[in-house]
Formats: sequence, C-alpha cells, structure tokens
Amino acid sequence: VLLATLAAGSMLALAACSGNAAGGEGGSDGGLIGVAMPTKSSERWIQDGDAVKEQLEEQGFKVDLQYAEDDIPTQVSQIENMITKGAEALIIASIDGTTLTQVLQDAADADIPVIAYDRLIRDSENVDYYASFDNYVVGVQQATSLLYGLGLTDLEGAEAADAPAGPFNIELFAGSPDDNNATFFWNGAIDTLQPYIDAGTLVVKSGQTDFEQAAILRWDGEVAQERMENILTSTYSDGSTVNAVLSPYDGLSRGIISALTDAGYSVGEGWPIISGQDAELDSVKAINSGEQFATIFKDTRELAAVAVDMASAILNGEEPEVNNTKDYDNGVKTVPSYLLESQIVVKDNITETLVDTGYWTEEEING
Ligand code: BGC
Repeated sequence: VLLATLAAGSMLALAACSGNAAGGEGGSDGGLIGVAMPTKSSERWIQDGDAVKEQLEEQGFKVDLQYAEDDIPTQVSQIENMITKGAEALIIASIDGTTLTQVLQDAADADIPVIAYDRLIRDSENVDYYASFDNYVVGVQQATSLLYGLGLTDLEGAEAADAPAGPFNIELFAGSPDDNNATFFWNGAIDTLQPYIDAGTLVVKSGQTDFEQAAILRWDGEVAQERMENILTSTYSDGSTVNAVLSPYDGLSRGIISALTDAGYSVGEGWPIISGQDAELDSVKAINSGEQFATIFKDTRELAAVAVDMASAILNGEEPEVNNTKDYDNGVKTVPSYLLESQIVVKDNITETLVDTGYWTEEEING
C-alpha cells in the first residue's frame, strides 16, 4: 500500500509536469480534498486525520480537515462547506452512517467522488469506495483475546491443551448502534464466544446478551462506566465476580475499568480480562499495568494510505485497488472496499506490534 502511495504520488507529479492532470485538477497543482473526521475526543481519529492530511499534502493536494465533535449537524455542514469550497474528493469517517444521504447527493451533483473512511456510509448510492479494516475479524480478535486471557485458547484461537473448565462470568459491551462497524465487531465476537457460552464455560450472568442491550451510543466511555456499574450492582452483589468483559473500544474499556475499581476490584487475583480496540496510548499503558488485558491494533497510517491512494487514483481517472466487493452492502449498493488486517496486542507483544512499527515510542508508553 505504501509503495502504491509512492507510485501514485510520482504519477501525479508526472501528470502535473506534462500539464496533463488526467481526470481532473487533482494532485500537484494543489486540488482540494475534504476530510471529515468524527471527533477529537478519541486519539485514534486525531491520528487518522493527521496521517490522511500529511499523506495528501505529500502528494501535492490541499486539505480541508474537519472534526465534528460527534455532532451530526456539524458534520453535515462541514461537508456542505467542503463542497462549496470546491473540494475535488471527500474522505469521510461518519458519525452516524445513515445521516449523510442528502449531503452526499449534493456531492454527487457536483461530481465529487466520496470515500467512506473506516466506517461505511449507509443508505446512499453516492459512496464510491470504502477503506477500512476487516471489521468482522476485529470482533473475532477481541473475543479471542478474552479466550486467551482466560487460558481457554492460544492467541490464534486454537483450544489450549490445559484449558480450565470454568465457568467464567463474562459481560458484553457493543459499540454505537449508528456505526456500521459496531455490528461487525459484535457478530465476529459473538460467533467466537457462542460455542463457549453454549458449553457453559462462559456465562453472561446479567443475561444481557442482545446487541441492543450491550450497545453504547457514540462509543461514550462514561455511558459504558454507568452500564458496568449497573451490572455490578444488579448481578454481582451476591459475592460473585465478573471474570471477563468484552469491550469493543479502548475508551469503553477505560470506563469499565473505572466502574470495576470503584466497586472494589483491584488488579491482580480476581481482576477481569478486558478487551479493547485502537491501541490508544492510555490503554497501552493500562495493558502494561495489567488493568486492560488486550487491545486491537489497527494501523491508522496504513488506513490513511489506502484512502489517499483511492482518492488520487480516482482523480487520475484510474480504478482504485480494492480487495473486497461483497461484504459491505450499505443498504443501497455493495461498496467496493479495501480491508486491512488488524492485530491483537497483549502485554508480551507491545514492543513488537507498537514500538518496532513506530506507532508509539518506548518513552510514550512508559512515560
Ligand atoms: C472504529 C473503531 C473505534 C470506534 C470508536 C469505530 O468505527 O472502527 O476503531 O474504536 O469507532 O471510535
């Protein structure tokens, strides 16, 4: 992907030199690309925005990067503005994947191609491409990290030879119901956990096993904290303990950890195995200290490179590279997608996954 980025970059440079920027005014002549990100309240989106901006600028584009602080009307008007300013392409990580139908119609009327970034935009035919990770696999990995932490499997999900019989109490959290990714994460995780639930090795003691019960609107860590507090009060006041928590995002995991700490749990014996996602710095520290067991690393630099490649290919009149044309139906069409691979991070592989790849430095993690 990085090579492709470089190749696309030099092609744009060539096109500009020969005065022939095929397919439009993109590339080194400084065409504008609009980049809409959901919120700065989560570190990962800041890294996404920075990486996309930097890589687009390297290719000679101008960039209008906007964050909407998880407010849907703000995101819609930011995108409207990008269209008015003459953006040649839009890269959008939506807040609510169902609310952009009208503004994307306006983009289509102005012949502006749209790339859905990380989150699929739903209910619109005007989504040209989708750059993301294999979101179902992310869910499988989250569940696998819990099974591994409980000693039931290895990190690849193969059954451990000396697996304990359990039963282990587990509680389940899901992401924001308006985010298309949330059900993919959930389905991957539940498909992986279900055989253990059916066998009685895992017990969802609260009985809250539906996505609707587990979902946390806008991925809000405080809401997750409250829900965990309620579950601890309603279900674990009898002296039983929760042994594992499926959490689909580091920000939720941190809320869950606060609820557990407030309820008297402490790290060490009896502290639950907790999953996460995004390898946010505070959570990597929490993995180091044993509060969080695992996270899922999705390299935002690679995702940015895919989206930037897609944008520059389209503006050069070329076909962007895709590797999935079947899984992401947005309700109107199946959006051609490029899906990246993610990785489980546990304490033992932090250096290999996050430091050696330059994502975080040793000092950032230990500081
Ligand atoms: C992203 C996750 C992120 C979550 C909350 C999802 O759409 O794919 O990486 O944890 O949003 O921001």
